[in-house]
Amino acid sequence: MEATTDTKKLTLRCQFCETWNRIEASRAADRPKCGKCGTPMLLDRPVKLDDETFDRTIAESEVPVLVDFHADWCGPCKVMAPYVDEVAAQYIGRALVAKVDTDRAQRAVAPFGIRGIPTSIVFKDGKEFARKVGAVPKKGLVDLLEPAL
Ligand SMILES: [Zn+2]
Repeated sequence: MEATTDTKKLTLRCQFCETWNRIEASRAADRPKCGKCGTPMLLDRPVKLDDETFDRTIAESEVPVLVDFHADWCGPCKVMAPYVDEVAAQYIGRALVAKVDTDRAQRAVAPFGIRGIPTSIVFKDGKEFARKVGAVPKKGLVDLLEPAL
């Protein structure tokens, strides 16, 4: 991964037509469009990953990925959600922020031995780089992500 910031790429699946798109991370704020259906990919907010999209998105991202492992019934997750949104907007183009519903993506979640949610994991070059268990304020997420940039 010797790519410069300008050429780092992300692989994301269009949420509408399910086509995989390779996009330049530095252009994430320009609302890149799906090559097939033209739907804009909105990366100023967390992207949702599931069993079908998690592995490839993490493996092929050339920028760090911050993943919020959460569940609908988890109160602290709801408290933390706005911070996850803010980090996505702030780091657009430099990192990818994603959310995984642990009840709906059990196969994707299994390898990580997640025992409590929310759990935040930063992936770099496809591998776990840092982890924080429990709800954290925005600064906690930033502190987790920054060393991976
Ligand atoms: Zn599409």
